[in-house]
Amino acid sequence: MDIRTNSHIQLIDITTSLNQEIADTGIKTGVCLVYTPHTTTAIIINENETGLREDILKLLNVIIPQAKYAHDRVDNNARSHLQAIVLGNNACVPIEGGRLALGTWQSVFFVELDGPRRRRLIVRIIETTRRT
Ligand code: ZN
Repeated sequence: MDIRTNSHIQLIDITTSLNQEIADTGIKTGVCLVYTPHTTTAIIINENETGLREDILKLLNVIIPQAKYAHDRVDNNARSHLQAIVLGNNACVPIEGGRLALGTWQSVFFVELDGPRRRRLIVRIIETTRRT
């Protein structure tokens, strides 16, 4: 899945696109692996609410503040790498009834941390037997 981001830091809700990819396979029960192959992006699962989206970006600036980082000598984006490390680069979500088995308030987000750029997301949809 290709994603074009349009800000330096950005949360993109990819839940609908993932559910569409699952629907296209016809798989009803399984696992969906969502993986970003970039070192300055992340995958998170949480609520898509405007205030919370602002709070998540604010938190990233608090836990990884502006500072002099060693990697900035190379390409001046150490902060983006560090923020990506804190959030993680993948999510693995069960599939039930042909769609992601997310909680009522959960959405899957692709997180851009050094945009705007063209990004690639790897999605693997695996059929499994149903066990509770
Ligand atoms: Zn770098």
